[in-house]
Amino acid sequence: MTDIDLTMRDIYSARARIAPIARKTPLVSSPALAELTGSEITLKLESLQETGSFKLRGAANKLLSLDPGAQQRGVITVSSGNHGRALAYVAHSLGLRAVVCLSDTVPANKRDAIQKLGAEVVVRGSTYDEAMEEAYRLGEKDGLEMIHPFDDPLIIAGQGTIGLELLDEFPDLDTVVVPLSGGGLLGGIAFTLKSADPKIHVVGVTMERGPAMVESLRAGRVVDIVEEPTLADALAGGIKPNQYTFELIRKTVDETVLVSEQEIAAAMAFALERHHLVVEGGGAVGIAALRAGKLQHLGERVAVVISGANVDIPLLLRIAKDNLDGR
Ligand SMILES: *Cc1c(COP(=O)(O)O)cnc(C)c1O
Repeated sequence: MTDIDLTMRDIYSARARIAPIARKTPLVSSPALAELTGSEITLKLESLQETGSFKLRGAANKLLSLDPGAQQRGVITVSSGNHGRALAYVAHSLGLRAVVCLSDTVPANKRDAIQKLGAEVVVRGSTYDEAMEEAYRLGEKDGLEMIHPFDDPLIIAGQGTIGLELLDEFPDLDTVVVPLSGGGLLGGIAFTLKSADPKIHVVGVTMERGPAMVESLRAGRVVDIVEEPTLADALAGGIKPNQYTFELIRKTVDETVLVSEQEIAAAMAFALERHHLVVEGGGAVGIAALRAGKLQHLGERVAVVISGANVDIPLLLRIAKDNLDGR
């Protein structure tokens, strides 16, 4: 484990670097969640980011920081879908070769979007970890630069730019609720917000099914988990090996919450009905945690990061129908 060498300068540099590629996403207040919780709730809509998730920020920061030689040789990654799509998008816009390794559990809509962006897609294994092994093997063989989806200071700094946007537009927030998988998103935002004010309460939310980071925090070391099918497919996968995010999350995060498949489904339906927002399972876990009243400490002014939108639309419509009927 290496202590992460990250400063606020890295976050500001990332913001300047990615400005031509990544959108500044909107914040909208949620009267519906305010009514349920009694707090002021504001949603940060990374679901409206180009490529449909915040992963564009980290991918852009990383690829734009590579030296020209590495850029020319090309890049490779492993992904549960959204990081691969973001990487493919940035690589395409810079004219770089990109290879994306996916397991066969990655939804077809995500796989197709990556292919459409011109990246080479390799489907291998039935877990994220199996696809990761293939990515390291192929990267070595072809001399491609491995772009890790979360365990890299430049990726973390890219995701941390969301924290700057929150501070710009919602400077008096006292709580932030963020979806959690490998911890690049939560770690980057937590680092930025805690640097501004250590009293800001930082909450990570993930699914009950295979929560790698939460199990690791409980064990006090990085542990393996069994990957299970989940509506929050963007949050699936292990976090091993881990150099940076486990320590960063351990130091900066105040609370973690687990949500059930039913709570995730209901949150997706809620986002669609009450906010007319398309949100994928992994992006909806913050809403799920709030609706289920699962936070131990809920402040008065709460920002909830809606991290992605890339759900298969027929699936979303089925979920909406099942969760809204007979209300
Ligand atoms: C990747 C992803 C996350 C989790 O990000 P980590 O940095 O791996 O913790 C959350 N939501 C969505 C939609 C994602 O694609």
